Amino acid sequence: MPAISTSIFELLKIGPGPSSSHTIGPMRAGFDFMESVRQLPDADRQRAGTVEIRLFGSLSATGNGHGTPRAIMAGLLGHEPDTCLPNVLEEFDDSQRPFDLDLGGKTLPYHTRDIIFDAVQHDYPHSNTMIFRLLNGAEVVFERIFFSVGGGFLRWPGWEEPKRGLPAYPYETMTQLKTHLRAHSMRLHELLLANEQAITGMTEEQIYAGLDRITEVMEGAVECGIVTEGVLPGTIGLQRKAPVMYNRAKSEYFQGSGFLKAVNAYALAASEENAAGHCVVTAPTCGGAGVLPAILHTLKRHMGATQEEIRQGLLVAACIGFLAKHNASISGAEVGCQGEVGVASAMAAAFLAYARGYRFQVTENAAEIAMEHHLGLTCDPVGGYVQIPCIERNAMGAVKAFNAYLIASTLDESYQKVDLDKVIQAMAQTGHDMSRKYKETSLAGLAMSMTEC
Ligand code: SF4
Repeated sequence: MPAISTSIFELLKIGPGPSSSHTIGPMRAGFDFMESVRQLPDADRQRAGTVEIRLFGSLSATGNGHGTPRAIMAGLLGHEPDTCLPNVLEEFDDSQRPFDLDLGGKTLPYHTRDIIFDAVQHDYPHSNTMIFRLLNGAEVVFERIFFSVGGGFLRWPGWEEPKRGLPAYPYETMTQLKTHLRAHSMRLHELLLANEQAITGMTEEQIYAGLDRITEVMEGAVECGIVTEGVLPGTIGLQRKAPVMYNRAKSEYFQGSGFLKAVNAYALAASEENAAGHCVVTAPTCGGAGVLPAILHTLKRHMGATQEEIRQGLLVAACIGFLAKHNASISGAEVGCQGEVGVASAMAAAFLAYARGYRFQVTENAAEIAMEHHLGLTCDPVGGYVQIPCIERNAMGAVKAFNAYLIASTLDESYQKVDLDKVIQAMAQTGHDMSRKYKETSLAGLAMSMTEC
């Protein structure tokens, strides 16, 4: 396999929740499809009579609960995930309302109710498959197939890794990273910064500005969530819990269990914002987007972290996400929730250890411990909503991240017998062996225990 060349800003993406593979990816697919349509010869666009969109796999099974139709509609109408306003998707909730799709010189009406929820089991190479077609009666005038592969990333038949700069320090595993660090006597964040510059061509200032923007959106999700009361969208009628938890933590002056209540509140807050379809940062996905913000907010507010420490920690958190994505998966549809909240927890544990000034080995150990205790975690969202078990699971992931940091930073490094590469391999194998029913289809587990939703 080629060396990891994912950009930090491809992994930590800003966009609307509640599911990166079900909202950010499909929204981007809708946008890209319309861009392609507008490049077609005028004669093709003129003879097109209808648009057909088909969803397969977990997009079909749980797309409605995840808000996929409204995300696609927003994309078709020119909204992009990283710049859309927090509440823009709510405009597209009315499935009966027709919207005019601009083909370039011609418009076609389309409703979100027109989206076809096709086969859950299918033969396409990725579970989350979408087919967008321009039709003239039964004739297909133009077609694009997209695979939403997790974290908001899209692929398609014939997709090739985009041409980009080569990493200054190529690696595929943590072991290879360690070799570079020793050989060049450098710190991990320095290596990651050099790679990001080489891959993207961005300057150090631009990268730091991007990391500060990510911090701002993560903090915004926490701060908004801890003061927003009410019931989340969807048929479950799930009450937001973050404000209650936060107020209790505050009344205890964030001391003793009040501190843990605050960590829980921050994770619940960002996850509830995600469930509401508001703006979050994929870390590594929307489903796990409450964990890292919770630890970041805890570190800034209660442990006095500097902006520099936050930036360095985010670089390292992204590196853990890269390794998991490259060697296993960060998609619940591929490996279950161990790839979403599990990886999020490992990223947050590494973030915390590194930002607190611990060197490489403690950081790796913290990530490994957090990942290890999420192995086997299934994905069975009730009613197809990213709410139960997802929201509380983010709180559990944040607390586990903090605990992993405590274990790694307290005990002697020599006690650690499993390294990060091995636990990522175990995650990949466990995901491979996991029944498809437990991979974001809502066909098993909790999703079947609460069928009234
Ligand atoms: S159970 Fe985990 S992987 Fe599945 S939708 Fe919820 S957060 Fe995502």
